[in-house]
Amino acid sequence: MNTDNLEIYDGHIHTQGGPCDPPEVFLEKAHSCGIAGGTIFSVHSAKYRPIPNYDQRAKSRIDWILEYTSHTPGFLPYFFADLSDADILEQIEYARKGGIRGYKVICDGDYSVGDHLEAIAAMAETGLPVMFHSGVDNYPHLSSPNNRPIVFEKMLNIRGLRFSLAHLGWPWCDEFIGTYAKFVFAQGMDGPDAHPSMYVDITPGTPGIYRREALRKLYLTGYNVRPRTFWGTDRIVNDYKPDLARRMIARDIAIIDEIERDAAAGVITDPYGMPKNENLKPALFAEVWKAFNKEP
Ligand SMILES: [Zn+2]
Repeated sequence: MNTDNLEIYDGHIHTQGGPCDPPEVFLEKAHSCGIAGGTIFSVHSAKYRPIPNYDQRAKSRIDWILEYTSHTPGFLPYFFADLSDADILEQIEYARKGGIRGYKVICDGDYSVGDHLEAIAAMAETGLPVMFHSGVDNYPHLSSPNNRPIVFEKMLNIRGLRFSLAHLGWPWCDEFIGTYAKFVFAQGMDGPDAHPSMYVDITPGTPGIYRREALRKLYLTGYNVRPRTFWGTDRIVNDYKPDLARRMIARDIAIIDEIERDAAAGVITDPYGMPKNENLKPALFAEVWKAFNKEP
């Protein structure tokens, strides 16, 4: 693998409660595997998963991630919000005023985006992006009622929303691609900001044997995903794993290289034509993350 000339941003890093590498140690680990920056989510709410002896009040979580990322240039702080909190609108505003750069949401089974469109619209009004989980998750919450990709269609009429869906919707990857198509079809109709812009967060998700198939389907189904697809690891800032990140980068580069070769050779055709799928890596690893986050 040669990543020397590739700029890489990890668009999906979590924070857990408990012991955490100091910012300089995290930075050193990230830089050691070629990662120049990325997105770090605050700790989640206690309702999502309680952490013993840890202050999980929203403002404390926001303050913590803002302080941490003030020492990690290139890495942006996101607030992991719980849409079902009674004071969510106040939290959204507190986060924005403090300098949060985006919101992270996991509908953990107890609620659906459809029940909280007002809060999501408030996030959209800040101009900041929202990153949603989609697919099954690790915790004993129901996943299918509220985390299948197509459920997010309920956000179709939120003006100006810029959002991503994660994990290729694993195991609902085909549905995920259909959901992307749905939002792309809608966008541009009824005026420039009438419908949301959906971005694709390819953070695994997809276990090994499915990774190649899922990425091939994403790029080769025929929709132009290059300008909307970014990369991430789903690792934690507490103890970032450079070796694992390196292996993930190498695996995905090999798959992307194959997709580019097959696209160039016209292995997959469609009467409507196919997207170019050229020079995918700079977009996937850096440019789209920057566009999503309005970073220079
Ligand atoms: Zn995650």
